Amino acid sequence: MGSGGRGSDGNPPTAVSRRSLLVGGGVLLGGAVALGASAHLYRERWDVAVIGAGVTGLSAARNLADHGLSVIVLEARDRIGGQLYTDHDFSSVPVELGAGLIHGREAHTWELVAEAGAETVPVRAGNGTVETLTTPDPPRDDEDAAAYLRRMGVPEDRWPPVSIDNESLERWSAVWMREYGLFDWWAVPRENFRVVGGYDSLLPPLSYDLDIRLEHTVDRVRWSGRGVRLDVSAPGGGTRVRADRCVVTLPIGVLKAGDVDFEPPLPAGHRDAVDALDRTDALKLVYEFDRAVFPANEDALGWDEDSGFVFWCVSREAPEVVVAWAAGEKARELQGMPTAERFATGLAALSEALGAGVPEPVARTTHDWAADEFSRGAYLFVPPGAHDAPDALAAPLEGVVYFAGEPTTGENTVDGAYANGYDTTDVLLTNL
Ligand SMILES: Cc1cc2nc3c(=O)[nH]c(=O)nc-3n(C[C@H](O)[C@H](O)[C@H](O)COP(=O)(O)OP(=O)(O)OC[C@H]3O[C@@H](n4cnc5c(N)ncnc54)[C@H](O)[C@@H]3O)c2cc1C
Repeated sequence: MGSGGRGSDGNPPTAVSRRSLLVGGGVLLGGAVALGASAHLYRERWDVAVIGAGVTGLSAARNLADHGLSVIVLEARDRIGGQLYTDHDFSSVPVELGAGLIHGREAHTWELVAEAGAETVPVRAGNGTVETLTTPDPPRDDEDAAAYLRRMGVPEDRWPPVSIDNESLERWSAVWMREYGLFDWWAVPRENFRVVGGYDSLLPPLSYDLDIRLEHTVDRVRWSGRGVRLDVSAPGGGTRVRADRCVVTLPIGVLKAGDVDFEPPLPAGHRDAVDALDRTDALKLVYEFDRAVFPANEDALGWDEDSGFVFWCVSREAPEVVVAWAAGEKARELQGMPTAERFATGLAALSEALGAGVPEPVARTTHDWAADEFSRGAYLFVPPGAHDAPDALAAPLEGVVYFAGEPTTGENTVDGAYANGYDTTDVLLTNL
């Protein structure tokens, strides 16, 4: 569920309101307003093209548009939100096929909750279950987190349970985990919340009035110090978009696959960063039952078990909707099965967790993030040796191309995406 990352600990060092910064920004960036105004008349060339309408892309575009720039958002899918993907059609309750939780009371996301007037409910999420670790010596640059904890003499039964949530500790950068407090993420008691009307109800405060082109897939970014020309596939045929600047919020899986050509090719530092970072796998299997199957007073089951699944009850009234969550190795195991077998495996594990048989679900749904060509996996993690990669990728190219989002922060939360869209475009605005 995207727990690992800077600022995702529920207690960020500075809970700066992203939206409140807008007030002063418009005054400080008067030049940007003028630039935006002229481009608005013609639209032959935009001030900024934003690639991707996930949370990063939307908050980036929001910030730029609120500062008077002309902005076009190009989104490959037929919806906004990216990894924040609420299914409103499956059941009488909204179902989250991607991000599900707001982590902690300090997340920037609460600004959007307030603006959207959204209702939230607390959810038990298995944290606060382990002790903080004593790791006095710094890790070696390319050391993996498991090797580091062994070297520090931390017994395995005290290791944080990141493998439930993500990749095993062998696959994580020890430097990254230590720097961002991720060894102790699970030890911090933290409230998590679900948005009752659907996580996507937080998007309108970001997306209103933006020029977002859905089903517009960027195939090529031609860039130079003078601007960008994007080759775009769209339902009516190919089109080109010209802009002075470009914010690229592509997920790491898409960058790694080379689905979008950069011409000229990205500099070595950026290419190395893309190669070094990785994405995990995560899968939700969603079941609707015509009667209650979950114990009353329990939101989640399975955190402490070894099944590789965590189960959430997202609706207390009939129909009852239960989500089986798997990540990392377990998700990959499921992805290797035909869909029917995935559902059967999840259901068997649910019976085991409940200690009782469950009725045949009346409906089921899932989303395969690995097979999704606009994601190519679930959220990002930082492997051994890759701790410098997010910063390397974040370095703007000739003041024209700005990478943003998960791969530039190492974060994998909605909160992180929201803050980073603003942070990256604050830099862009300052550089105008
Ligand atoms: C299963 C799952 C569970 C999660 N659980 C949680 C959680 O509980 N809490 C939490 O805070 N976070 C969670 N996360 C992580 C969180 O959703 C992400 O970190 C965050 O949404 C990333 O936002 P982003 O905008 O940076 O990237 P994305 O959401 O990946 O947005 C990138 C956008 O680029 C678009 N795109 C791709 N290729 C192209 C192209 N060629 N042209 C144009 N557009 C393109 C994509 O369609 C997408 O809309 C979860 C993620 C997943 C997958």
